[in-house]
Amino acid sequence: MTTAELLALDAAHVWHPFTQMQGWLDDQPLVIDRAEGNWLIDTDGRRWLDAISSLWVTVHGHRKAELDAAVRAQLDKVAHCTLLGQASVPSIELAAKLVSLAPTGLTRVFYSDSGSTSVEIAVKMAYQYWQLVGRPGKQKFVALREAYHGDTIGSVSVGGVDLFHERFRHLLFPVHHVATPHAYRWQGVDPLEESLLEIEALLSARHEELAGFVVEPLVQGAAGMFLQPEGWLRRVAALCRQYDVLLICDEVATGFGRTGTMFAVEHEGVTPDLMCVAKGLTGGYLPLAATLASDRVYQAFLGRFDEAKTFFHGHTYTGNPLACAVALANLAIFESEQTLPRMKAVEAVLAEGLAEVAKLPQVGDVRRRGFMVGVELVKDRATKEPFDFAERMGFRVCLAARAHGVLLRPLGNVVVLMPPLSLTVDEARLVTRALHDAITRTLGA
Ligand SMILES: *Cc1c(COP(=O)(O)O)cnc(C)c1O
Repeated sequence: MTTAELLALDAAHVWHPFTQMQGWLDDQPLVIDRAEGNWLIDTDGRRWLDAISSLWVTVHGHRKAELDAAVRAQLDKVAHCTLLGQASVPSIELAAKLVSLAPTGLTRVFYSDSGSTSVEIAVKMAYQYWQLVGRPGKQKFVALREAYHGDTIGSVSVGGVDLFHERFRHLLFPVHHVATPHAYRWQGVDPLEESLLEIEALLSARHEELAGFVVEPLVQGAAGMFLQPEGWLRRVAALCRQYDVLLICDEVATGFGRTGTMFAVEHEGVTPDLMCVAKGLTGGYLPLAATLASDRVYQAFLGRFDEAKTFFHGHTYTGNPLACAVALANLAIFESEQTLPRMKAVEAVLAEGLAEVAKLPQVGDVRRRGFMVGVELVKDRATKEPFDFAERMGFRVCLAARAHGVLLRPLGNVVVLMPPLSLTVDEARLVTRALHDAITRTLGA
């Protein structure tokens, strides 16, 4: 089939996620056929640098020999078997590996298939936990405004992106939302201290009814790459301990090296009670997620069969062996290739290129933590006035970057760079130059 024929069929039958399908073909979608390393190749043979890691999942690049081999080797054994009532070799080995990498104290791994389910599970675990320990009044959750924890009803309830979530308001359970400690658009003077004051006031007043605090550690990704001030998470963790509220860290986006450490919580020396991982877990190969729990949480669920303390939750493909096998191979590469130390040189090049981007008059803010980058476009730099939603400015800049063979995807007026950890120095230069040129050409110098 030609690309035109494929796209006509796509437009006829595929309903794309987060996409206004009216006008879909006007947005010039690419049809990806194959990949090599950090590059995707479309059906017309054009090569595109995958600077968003295929929506934040690719870690060591596409078609990574070790990962391809891990899937093939597991295929020769078994593709799927259930974790309900039985165990499987890769799911056992991966759980032990995850526990060895996670902050000390997280000892139990509950598998699922997506970031949304990993958060849904953490919320349900926390909710049930307080009933099991005899404090059933602790039922409510605290979350940040503009948080994104996935698209199922539970994960949307603890989310706070109005554009995505407002329409479903009546389906959601009530959550205490607190202000996001995001420096660029903070309304007060000191995002760190003022945010912590608000949180402490809420926790001290309501802790008897609070089950958990759900948070994306360090970087609120889908909000537009908002960065938390240094020390914020550490102090939130201390407040949660003080008021006996479970801390749930959603590492779905930040996990597996994105912020420069294996998990973002390491920067703040924090061990959450529950930790959600997904996106980078299989290196971008197969859908797999996990909710890690502390022993304290896990122990509460133990009891005689007839006490029904069981965690009655599970998805059909939970702990899929192919996915677990490729996740194990993905984690092994962090050691064999020293991925995290090797990111440093590329980070420096990214930072250098982004410093040039930051000088452009329509760039209000450049935010970066490791390989997570947000470049916020504004109509007026002095007043921080945003571009109108309808102008699709982020989208237009990303479309312009295609002239350089670079694939980007925006979050509103924020252009996101989320390259694979395998990005090379040359590719880092290409990405930041493409972005610079795309902004200049779209918005004028
Ligand atoms: C992407 C994301 C999710 C949802 O993951 P899915 O696999 O898309 O369900 C949850 N939390 C965070 C922080 C994310 O970035």
